[in-house]
Amino acid sequence: MSECVFCRIVAGAAPAHRVYEDDTVCAFLDIRPITRGHTLVIPRNHATDLSELDAETGAELFRAGHRIARAVQGPAFAADGANLLINDGRAAFQTVGHVHLHVLPRKHGDKFRFASGLVLRRSREPDRVAAAIRAGLAGLDTAAETDTDTG
Ligand code: AMP
Ligand code: ZN
Repeated sequence: MSECVFCRIVAGAAPAHRVYEDDTVCAFLDIRPITRGHTLVIPRNHATDLSELDAETGAELFRAGHRIARAVQGPAFAADGANLLINDGRAAFQTVGHVHLHVLPRKHGDKFRFASGLVLRRSREPDRVAAAIRAGLAGLDTAAETDTDTG
């Protein structure tokens, strides 16, 4: 079994609160969230950093991060914005050697909460948080179907 904790999550050998997955990427809650709903999107296949990631997989990583950022701004989660970020390399504070895109939901006026989140990084009600993000993603699918139906 892989030494890489994120590969272990992909394989189902380590626990995670998953919010999304497809053939290329997997997304789950950060175990030490900076903001409520802090999510990591990773390629299923191991790539240590961006130098090992092919461009198509990078595009899929961002596609999923884009959807999660939109999903958390829907009614099920009600964020007002999001930060999307990759720490690429140890010089850039990458601590887990498997590429990951951080999606950090934000609220208007959350500057102080964000600053304390950076220090405390406490996970609260992860089951509920993950369910709300999944509901937000399902809401995007429903909205897309409605658009198609109404032409
Ligand atoms: P970075 O500094 O960009 O490498 O961020 C690594 C992130 O992975 C941190 O925010 C950690 O809290 C998070 N992390 C580490 N181990 C796990 C895990 N087992 N499950 C979920 N998130 C994790
Ligand atoms: Zn890995």
